[in-house]
This record gives sequence, structure tokens and C-alpha cells, in this order.
Amino acid sequence: MRTPVPDYLDEVLDALRGDSTGAPANYIPELATADPDKFALSITTTSGSTYAAGDVDTEFSIQSISKPFAYAAALIDRGFERVLESVGVEPSGEAFNELSLEGDTHRPKNPMINAGAIATHSLLGAAGAGQDDRVERARRLFSRLAGRELRVDEQVCASELGTAHRNLAIAHMLHNYGILEGDVHSIVEGYTRQCSILVSVRDLSMMAATLATGGVQPVTGDRVLESDVARQVMAVMAGAGMYDAAGDWLTRVGIPAKSGVAGGMVGVLPDQVGIGAFSPRLDAHGNSQRGRRAFERLSQDMGMHLFSSDRGRLDSVGSDTQDGTTTFRLQGNVQFTAAAELLDLMAEVEDGNVVLDVSRVHSFSDVGRRMTLEGLRRLRLDGRGIALRDPSTTLPDPDLGDGTYPEESATGGLQV
Ligand code: GLN
Repeated sequence: MRTPVPDYLDEVLDALRGDSTGAPANYIPELATADPDKFALSITTTSGSTYAAGDVDTEFSIQSISKPFAYAAALIDRGFERVLESVGVEPSGEAFNELSLEGDTHRPKNPMINAGAIATHSLLGAAGAGQDDRVERARRLFSRLAGRELRVDEQVCASELGTAHRNLAIAHMLHNYGILEGDVHSIVEGYTRQCSILVSVRDLSMMAATLATGGVQPVTGDRVLESDVARQVMAVMAGAGMYDAAGDWLTRVGIPAKSGVAGGMVGVLPDQVGIGAFSPRLDAHGNSQRGRRAFERLSQDMGMHLFSSDRGRLDSVGSDTQDGTTTFRLQGNVQFTAAAELLDLMAEVEDGNVVLDVSRVHSFSDVGRRMTLEGLRRLRLDGRGIALRDPSTTLPDPDLGDGTYPEESATGGLQV
């Protein structure tokens, strides 16, 4: 059998191919020469499968889609506090190239608008890093996220630098308020080079899927980002990724996303998928016209909305009592909800021994684990005998929080 997912993606492309509204960006002369009919879509799941359709191997410059990933690099290199000193996290409700800063702090409102992205670029690498180091820092991180070596398109970069007056104006303004340190021209040049890194839709869906897993590249297994960095990036994308259309996008499409003026778009659904799209004709907001519509289709057809409630529970809990022994069975990815239910059920036990069967659990969230062990500890205090059935050690080192373990198991297996 052939999986129907690529056929579905082909169908989405075919349905939208006729839409020739909008035009490729022309303020960067090199981008105006792009073939406007190119069209591609790619989805990478958190388990590392990629489904792609259309012009999947066409490369284009990443442009503003570099912003969330460069933000990740700055957070890693300088820490949250330092980055937040220079760049805010508020949706700006303005166009991507607006010359605006927060009134009191003079910080750019967020890292997704050019002002914030230029300030973010200046924070790449160690303090005082030169342009080559900053660009290389971005290129290397993007390559690890994509799972292959990416390169800068110097022609696109040179073309944009020839007309980069607006970004230079923004950078001078940032310098004036002490947000940008160092040589303004070199920072804008480095930022422009970062925007000129070439990607395909596959690269984009892979990079986004690495955010979706909380930072582990799903194919190479490389932990590229810590989960708090991935979460910060996704949260800022959700609030500010679509510039002045952010609220409309979040409500209607519900996929945190970022677009670039070369026609690329990236989207991420935590724990599910990363999505890449490419079509060079842009709408009035500077977003890919067909790319935007493809995201709308995916959200509707595939139930891919961050706030859709049709995904169901990730966990479940049950219990039964036989011969005076109560067995609790947990299943799935045990998070707060199942753990809370488990504790309610445990609270009803009045006598006999207790078995906790986690053989059908595939993972515990941190809070799920702590709550579960606390339940066992309290049952022990009440005088219950406790055993753990954990053949795949999903609950390693089940220290009940006081240095003791379930009586008959520290390592797994059924020991009642
Ligand atoms: N390099 C472009 C710029 O700074 C990126 C803008 C975009 O993709 N929206 O203008």
C-alpha cells in the first residue's frame, strides 16, 4: 500500500494552483526574478516521517523565517534575561518592517518584526562576536535543525543589501537608543546574510518539527534546543509570527507560523508536526498567498488547530480490586489529568495492598511522575503494601520522595 498523505498534499496543491493573485516581493530585486508558479508543501511528524508534494527540491532564501530560529540561537547564547532586555515578546500588530519600538524601554516589541530580528541577530554567538561568527552561528544552528548543511545565497544577500535603506534606518534607530551595540552596517549585513540562507520546504518542515518535539531533531535524534527555548520560540511565533494578521491567523488557522518574503512559510503544532510551504506570490501583508491558503486547508481538513479540542485524552486511568489488592492501571502519556484522577482513586483505598501497573504507559510528564510517586508515598504512610509493575522502566528510580521505594520493586517487573 502507498500512504495517501502525499496524495492529499497533491490535492491541496492542485486545488490552489489556479490562484495567481499577488506577486513576488520586488523590494529585493533578486526575489522578483523567482518563478511565481513554484508551489510546494511538506509535513514532518514528530516521529520523523516527512510527506512532501510539489516543487519539493526548489531552494529559496529563508528570509523572515530565519527570525524564530535566530531567536532560539540568541536565547541559547545569551540566556533569556539578556535577550529579553533587548527584545520584547508582545505582538506588535504592525507590518514587518515598521520603525517602531516600545515606548518606555525602547526595545523592539518582538523578535519577529525586523527591528527585533536585527537586535536578535546582534546577540548571536558570544558577546562581541563578529559578523562572520554571527552568520555562521545562525547557519550552523539552522543546519542542525534541518538535518543537513545549509548555505548562504550571496547573490540574494547582495541584492538586498543594495536596497537595505529601511533596515539600516531601523538599525540606526536601535543604536540611538542603546539597543544595538557595535557596527550598525555590519549587523544589518549579517542579518541580511542570515535571511539569505537557502532552504527547501523539506528543510522548513524539519526545522519546525524540531520545535514541535521540544528541541530534538526527529530524524537525526540530535537535541538541538532545550525544551524551554523551543517553547519560547513557539509562543512568540503564535503571538507575533504573522505580524499585523497575528490574531486573525491564530483564531482561524491556529498554527503558530512565520512567513518570509521569498514565499516560504513555516508552521508548528507542538507534539504533532512541522509544516513548510513555498509559493512566491505574496498577499498585501507580505505572506505567501497560496502558502497561506494551504495552511488554512490543512488546519480545516486535518484538525490542525492549536486549540481544537478533538485530539482527545493522551492518557487514561482505571482500577480494580481483587482478593483485597487494588490494581491501578495507567495508560498513554501520563500528564496532570490522569495523575489527578489516579490520586482521586487512590484516596478511596482503605485497606489491602496496592499494585500500580504502568506497563501500558509510554511516558510520564514531570508532573505526572511526581504526582504518581506522591500518591504511592501517601498510601505507604497509610500502611498499604505497594508494588510497581513496570516492565519497560517508564518510571525509573521510583523514589517515593523520601528515599524509599515500592517494597518489591526498584527496577521494574511484577513483584507483588
Ligand atoms: N530580509 C527581509 C527584510 O529584512 C526579510 C523580510 C521578510 O521576510 N518579511 O526585509
